[in-house]
Order: sequence, then structure tokens, then C-alpha cells
Amino acid sequence: MNDVQQHLEELRDRGLYRRMRLVSGPQGPRVLLDGKRVLLLCSNNYLGLADHPRVREAAAYAAMRYGVGAGASRLISGNMTLHQRLETNLAEFKGTESCLLFGSGYLANTGVISALAREGDVVFSDELNHASIVDGCRLARAETFVYDHLDVEHLEHGLAEAGGRGSLIVTDGVFSMDGDIAPLEQIVELAHRYDVRVMVDEAHATGVLGPGGRGSVAAAGLTDVVDVIVGTLGKALGGYGAYVCSSEEIARYLTNSARTLIFSTGPAPPSVAAALAALDLLQREPRRIERLSDNARTLRIALLEQGFHIDDGDTHIVPLVVGDPHLTMDFCERALNRGLFAQAIRPPTVPAGGSRLRLAAMATHRPTELRWAARELAAAAREAGLVPAGAAHEDEHAYEGDLSLDVDVAVAARGFVYDHESVDDSQVRQAA
Ligand code: PMP
Repeated sequence: MNDVQQHLEELRDRGLYRRMRLVSGPQGPRVLLDGKRVLLLCSNNYLGLADHPRVREAAAYAAMRYGVGAGASRLISGNMTLHQRLETNLAEFKGTESCLLFGSGYLANTGVISALAREGDVVFSDELNHASIVDGCRLARAETFVYDHLDVEHLEHGLAEAGGRGSLIVTDGVFSMDGDIAPLEQIVELAHRYDVRVMVDEAHATGVLGPGGRGSVAAAGLTDVVDVIVGTLGKALGGYGAYVCSSEEIARYLTNSARTLIFSTGPAPPSVAAALAALDLLQREPRRIERLSDNARTLRIALLEQGFHIDDGDTHIVPLVVGDPHLTMDFCERALNRGLFAQAIRPPTVPAGGSRLRLAAMATHRPTELRWAARELAAAAREAGLVPAGAAHEDEHAYEGDLSLDVDVAVAARGFVYDHESVDDSQVRQAA
């Protein structure tokens, strides 16, 4: 067996092997997945703009008028009027001086962090930040202090330890796999006190939170004090690409130092035109944002009624944490057999022991579909040997295990009481 085969075998053994599933047609609330019709409950097309007729038309028109590619990096000959228009509109929407487009959110995060944090600096990063932030920290030659999730005391400890070498605090606004929200006010206060910059990734917050969907920074009233706001065009805005909103000075600095901007072809005209149309629709028809928020509430209530334990919160991202990756895959397949697609998310996307189904409501779901989905998920969970926590007997005691227990078991206690022979279920009673 060669090294590649061995690696793949290991992944299979650990329940971490991945393969792509195939969607036919657009990203609607119902799709044909590997030939089977299913309700889609894990797409980031939150507002239904990826398949909106006006957005499609804008992309098609731009392809005819401007061609399909920018032809070069924007610093060579690839800077087109469409790029500039979208940057102007996004800066106005976000209320910042400037905006710079990047090829994708991954490229924006890696490029911006590695430009703003240099050798000898310290970057502070929430432990559950997206992989593109993690990779940005790796790419920067700076040291990274990873603080416990949402833990501002731990962050402050890191800032004090850094002894003036701190340069940047970076956090997701809405966390991609947990749907919780960063404590931005406290983070900004600490940044001010320790004189470091703040960068917020609004990938899952733009089009979702804040006035008119302006994001988590705007929701907290912090637009003027957050130094860099990153967002992607590939989620609520439905297309592909990303943007970085900042002061004009930082934008000029990034134009001169963000390698993923300098050394990569400019965003394709159809994608840019699609984002312009999507942004316009977002502003003209804010009811989509309300519908998403209503649907998020409907989904959360329906899951609670079925006995699932879900963390407090009100965003559209709802994790059902199982813990063990094999069990999570089994749960996912059983849900699929019932006509519901919620992809299993496993390490390294989430920490070891945190495998889950990550559910995402969309504005285009009907409330009845979401209630049906919750019922089917409960049935699939039972089939997989997982009992939704609220369905446990009242006399079952709360999780009392030693916290140094196998992390799979400890994390599993968040979502389910196991009824599965591979786990000693005296250790995994659901915490009340
Ligand atoms: N940041 C976060 C929080 C994300 O969830 C993602 C995508 N999953 C990205 C950045 C990357 O964005 P893109 O898909 O545009 O590369």
C-alpha cells in the first residue's frame, strides 16, 4: 500500500473519509442530490439569491458585455469598471471608506491576515475561527495566540502576555459551524486598550444580521471602530468572490501587500455583476432577511419540540452535535433516506469530538418544510441509535463525567443521550 492509499484507509477507519455528492440543477430549497429529490438544509444560499432570475440575468448579461474573465491580476490589466462599481456599492452598504474585492473569502482571509501581521507580531484568533483564518495565521510569520471560544478573559490574558507585540484580533462574526455570535463589543474594547487592530469575518452575517443585513459589526454599532470587515459573496449574496471593507489607507496597504490579491486573477465579470444585482435586491427587498430570521426561529423551535438540545441563539445556523464521526455519518445517511440533506460535518472542519449535522435555514424554505425536517431528523436520530436529549427520561441525571474524559464523549453530551452500544452511556447523560 502506498502512502496515499494508506492515508485514505486511515481516514476511512476514523470515519473521516470525504466524497463529493452531486447536485443537479440550481441551489433551491429542494434539489436532486445524487439523483434523489431531497430538502436542502445545508446550503449557504441563505436568501435564495444564487438562483434568483435577476441575479442570473445580470451574470449572463455581463458575460456577453465584458466576457467571462478579467484576464489578469487587477494590478496588471484586470481591473474593470464592474469591479470598481461593486467596491463602491459594498463600501456604501457597509458604511466604510473603502472596499477591495478578492477572489474568494479564503483568499481574502489568508491575504489580509498575512499582510497585517508580520514576523515578531502576535495575532489573536478565536479557537473556532474558520479554516481560512487559521491558514491566514499560519501564512503570516507572526505568532498566533488561539483564545478559547468567545472567551474575552482568555483573550485579555493573551494580549497582556504579548507585551505590546499584539497586532491583530481576528474573529468570525457569526461562527460558521455553531451559529453563535462573537462578543464584538468586548473584543473592540480590548483592542482599543491594547492598541491592536480588529478584523471580523462576516461570511455568515452579511445579509443575515444587522440593519438591512449589514452584518454583525453593524448590528453591534461598531462599523467605525472595527478595522477590517471581510465578507464573502458566496453565501447570502449567492455568487462567488469576497470583499474587504476598511479605511482607505488599509485598502491601499492591502493593494500593495496582500499577496492573494496581487498574484491572483481579478474576479470574473459574471460573478461581479451577479453580486451587484444581489446586493441591489438585498437592499430593495429586505423582506428576504426577515423571512430567513423567521425560518431560523421556526427551525429552532421545531427541533426543540422534537427533543433536540440546541444552544441558545437565534441565527439560521443550527448544529446538532453528535460527537462521533461514524455515528454522525450514519445519522446523515438516515436523514437522506428520509428525503432530507444536512451534510455531516467532521474534523478538521470542527474540533475532534465535535462531529455534527450543521443545519442552515434559508429564506426560501417553507415553515411546513422546516417542521417536517425536524420530525424526520428526530426519526433518523432514533434509527441511528441517538435519542434527542429532551426525549430522555426525567430521572436520567446530568452529565457528571470527569472533564478529562474522551473528548468524543464530552462533546456528545451537548446534543444527545446516546443509546448506542459503543459508548458507555452512564458517561453521556445530557446536561440539563
Ligand atoms: N469565512 C468563513 C467564516 C466561511 O465559512 C467561509 C466559507 N465556508 C469562508 C470564510 C471562505 O469563503 P469562500 O467560500 O468565499 O472562500
